[in-house]
Amino acid sequence: MENRLRLAPSPTGLLHIGTARTALFNWLYAKKTQGKFLLRIEDTDSNRSKQEFTNNILDGLRWLGLDWDEEPIKQSKRIEIHKSTINKLLQKGFAYRCFTTEEESKILRNEQKLNGLPPKHDNRHRNLTKKEIERFISEGKSSVIRFRIEEEIIIEWNDLIRGKIKWLGKDLGGDMVLSRRAFGYEIGEPLYNLAVVVDDNFMGITHVVRGEDHISNTAKQILIYKSLGFNLPVFSHTPLILNSDGKKLSKRDCVTSIDDFKTMGYLPEALSNYMALLGWSPKTGEGELCSLIDISKNFNLENVNKSGAKFSWEKLNWINSQYIKTMKKDKLHTIFKEYWEKEGWYSSSNVWGLKLTSLLQESITVLKDVVDQSKPFFETSQFEPDAMQFLKNDEVKMSIKHIIEYLDSKNPEINQNSAKEALNSIAKEHNIKKGLVMRSLRVALFGSLKGPDLILSWELFALNGEDKKRVRKCLEMI
Ligand code: GLU
Repeated sequence: MENRLRLAPSPTGLLHIGTARTALFNWLYAKKTQGKFLLRIEDTDSNRSKQEFTNNILDGLRWLGLDWDEEPIKQSKRIEIHKSTINKLLQKGFAYRCFTTEEESKILRNEQKLNGLPPKHDNRHRNLTKKEIERFISEGKSSVIRFRIEEEIIIEWNDLIRGKIKWLGKDLGGDMVLSRRAFGYEIGEPLYNLAVVVDDNFMGITHVVRGEDHISNTAKQILIYKSLGFNLPVFSHTPLILNSDGKKLSKRDCVTSIDDFKTMGYLPEALSNYMALLGWSPKTGEGELCSLIDISKNFNLENVNKSGAKFSWEKLNWINSQYIKTMKKDKLHTIFKEYWEKEGWYSSSNVWGLKLTSLLQESITVLKDVVDQSKPFFETSQFEPDAMQFLKNDEVKMSIKHIIEYLDSKNPEINQNSAKEALNSIAKEHNIKKGLVMRSLRVALFGSLKGPDLILSWELFALNGEDKKRVRKCLEMI
């Protein structure tokens, strides 16, 4: 039988890293077993669901390389089927109408709080007679539909990640609500636990892989599966992603949406590679840097950790920089060009742009670093204070003078070899330390004592005649 997995996001916000990681684990397992990875958009909460969020989720998954099979299912189109299933459960006696008002529920909750008890419905309308129901309805009272959960029932399943999980009926908060309030004999908007079971069964889902925050829902859903005579899927609950304090990664940690990571300059292949390592690790001896398809070959749900996965910026940054380092120059150049153009910077030629790309490739961690690091090649800036101080030294002044003299008299074509030759010969001829000549040139070109590889940078500046301009300007200034 073909494995069928799914992601069932609610489009009430931007694609979150937690949801994306759940998607990834589903995708990896589907790929590993040559199964299908499907999508269901759980958009039944009409107040909070938005098309723009659906688009964002689909775009984000595509960007991460998590392609899906088959047309995504929209849960909102299936509401009538959910309602008729609830009707079936009512008829079979698995569910019943409950007329407890919001006020009454509040009173119950307050009493429980006073006694230090967890929230739990008291199932007061479990055994209403037909007459009592008629009376409540004629009084104009609204009702929800509740599913009976026997206190003594034991719900057990074999979780692929966590092993045997056992829940007791008495710990599920009383009889479960299947639908929102409605008047008369109507059935209100069906709720998550009911809809998810009906739809997973309809889609032929064989494996449900989702966050550990759904464990108690799974216990409830198993009861619904059984009451409807549906086959149970295999369940797996992934660990949460934690921040550095060991708490669930949240909006307070600044970036949580996939868009945020994109804006910060993470590559999709680096981010998805990193996400795979959040809760899963390759066998010893296998490298951590791997394409998703290669990861899928080694991936197994049984090897996913049970405990929370700490999010590490350091590791993500390292992975991203490794992907940048090994990226094809052309591809990286195209990406850099977009950043440059946003700043109004245009390279004088493709060769120049490619050379600058090679120069920066080694030192960039996140793509947007390219702005700061390319800036000196497109714009001149103020000399930094320590560079100004450095320029006060007579030997430095002389070095700069000799550099321009050398360039004017020899007019060399600057490349790796000739640049080294020039520095050597200036140092030797005027008896100045080569290191000092180099630092003087750096300050003249960059206005700073720090910067990228000097020889490569000089070659780049020379391609535009910018080296002479800057050195001359520096000399005029001192
Ligand atoms: N819509 C639910 C969520 O986003 C789906 C959970 C599930 O996978 O069943 O949390």
